[in-house]
Amino acid sequence: MRGIEDIRREYDRLDAICRVDTSRMEIRLNNAAKRLGSFQFRPGFPRGTMTVTISRRVLGDEALFLDTIRHEYAHAVVFLRHPLSRHGHDKVWKTVCREVGCTPRATVKDAALKERMEANAKYKVTCMRCGAETYYMRAGKVVQTLQREANRRGPFKKASSVACRRCGGRKFSMTELR
Ligand SMILES: [Zn+2]
Ligand SMILES: [Zn+2]
Repeated sequence: MRGIEDIRREYDRLDAICRVDTSRMEIRLNNAAKRLGSFQFRPGFPRGTMTVTISRRVLGDEALFLDTIRHEYAHAVVFLRHPLSRHGHDKVWKTVCREVGCTPRATVKDAALKERMEANAKYKVTCMRCGAETYYMRAGKVVQTLQREANRRGPFKKASSVACRRCGGRKFSMTELR
C-alpha cells in the first residue's frame, strides 16, 4: 500500500528531471470514488498554495498509483512554468506528461473502476461526438430528459437539451443495462 511519503519521494525525483521545486506543495489523500486525483492552486501571500489530492482508491494499484500521481504532478509543472495561463489537458500539459511518464489523457484509465460502474449502473449514456461514456445508477434528470426527447423526436436524431460535459456535444445514445 502506497502513501503520502511515496508520493513525495516520486515528486522529488521528478523535480530533478523537470527542474522545478514542488517541495512546498501540499499532498492530501481523500476517499473520492470517481475523481482519482486533482491539482489546485489557491492564491495567497507570499506565493499561494499548490495542493495535489489523490484518492485512496489508487494506493493499492501500483500502475494506477503512478499514473495518477504523475498526472497531477504534470498539472503542477505546467502551473509553475506558465503561472499566468490555463492549460488543462492541452498540448503543453501532454508534453509534460511525456517528461514525467504518465498517460497523456484527461481521465486516468481505470479498468476496474469502469467495470464496477458498469456492474452497478442502470443506464449508459454515450456522447455521439466524443465517445464519452457516463453511467447512471437510476433514471435521474439526465436520463429522464434523454428518454423524453427520444420518445418525442425519435431516438437521438436531434440535438438534445443536455450537453456533453467533455465536448459540449448534444447527441447521445443511451443503453439500459439491466
Ligand atoms: Zn488532469
Ligand atoms: Zn462529448
